[in-house]
Amino acid sequence: MVAVLPAPPKLRAVSSTLSSLPPKPTLPTIVHLDADAFFVSCELSLKPELRGRKTAVGGRERGIISSASYEARACGVYTPMPTKLALRVCPDLILLPHTSGLYGKMSRRMFDLCETLTPLVQRNSIDEGYLDLGMCGFKTAAEIESRVRALQQRIWDELEVPTSFGIATNKLVAAIASKARKPRGFTVVPPGEEAAFLAPLPLGVLPGIGKKTEGKLKAAGLEFVRDILRLGERELEQHFGSFAAEAVRMARGEDDRVVHVDHEDAKSYSQQETFGHDIGDFAEIERIAKRMIDDLMPSIRADGKRARTLTVKVRYPGMEDSASGRSLPEATDLEAPFYPLVAPLLKAAWTKRRPLRLVAVRFSGIEEPATQLEMFGQTEEKKRRLAAVLDKLNTGKSPTVKRGHQLGGEQR
Ligand SMILES: [Mg+2]
Repeated sequence: MVAVLPAPPKLRAVSSTLSSLPPKPTLPTIVHLDADAFFVSCELSLKPELRGRKTAVGGRERGIISSASYEARACGVYTPMPTKLALRVCPDLILLPHTSGLYGKMSRRMFDLCETLTPLVQRNSIDEGYLDLGMCGFKTAAEIESRVRALQQRIWDELEVPTSFGIATNKLVAAIASKARKPRGFTVVPPGEEAAFLAPLPLGVLPGIGKKTEGKLKAAGLEFVRDILRLGERELEQHFGSFAAEAVRMARGEDDRVVHVDHEDAKSYSQQETFGHDIGDFAEIERIAKRMIDDLMPSIRADGKRARTLTVKVRYPGMEDSASGRSLPEATDLEAPFYPLVAPLLKAAWTKRRPLRLVAVRFSGIEEPATQLEMFGQTEEKKRRLAAVLDKLNTGKSPTVKRGHQLGGEQR
């Protein structure tokens, strides 16, 4: 006979501590989606005959490259590279102008397809986002993998946009995994293997470690993610300062951020762009911001809504953000009233004399006009009809209608 003894108090204490910790994830349920060369891919979906060629989206005169095909990248074209330089390093580059409204529309269709798999979709930027499959009831990693592969295939079948996916137990590792093999990448990091997956990767894969910091760390003998984990407390402090604890957490592949479904989404329309190289040219940034207005407004019109407030956000290297917003006296679904706000808002937000890593534009103060016809005079109504015609023309196979700031300068 075995006597049943009460558990010793010490063990009890341990088990109660353990039970208060969040359970270790047993399935990789966090997915990061990253479309490959998104603007170019959208263009190629309309011009499939250019597939496999060296193509890029960008403005011809004084413009920059905003997206380059992988064939063009192999030739030395990167973003944002001045178009002039791109044509010098790659003389047979096929340069495509920016198609207003196309990328926003394709982005919405891509994320709508994601929402057929799970309602928990965080649209991070026009071509990147997270999916949380934790509530979908999948029982095995194999099941998750096959469902996400099916989604990747469906996005290709319906939109002809190639995508890369990373699947892991958290956002940090999933995002790094999606970029591990591109284009058309598919990388699964099983639970428990996060640190081992990150260990051999260069430090620059970690968010917050830019090219400059990476160079400095390399000079100090720190090159790979695993190098962080061999440092003592003092060395960590010396190399990473206040970022030290975070650096260790990241190197271990730990991240407890949740997939954030922006329920405000319906109340705002936004777009942002992260540059591969920092941009310091005001006119360039202004053009990019105006182009975002052109990308966003057609969807506001398509939803039958109007916007009152425009916010411009800038980010300096090192994740430091600054934003400025202004409202119109009345909400509108036209682009033109917002154009004059861009330069002053940009000046107000961009106060440091440093190049930018990212610019974002956001429309809020979204209204649903009840009495559309009575509320606006005839002139407004004419402009609105013109805008609707523009939208139609620009969603066709050969969008040709351009606005002033899209001509001559950068066209993306
Ligand atoms: Mg991408």
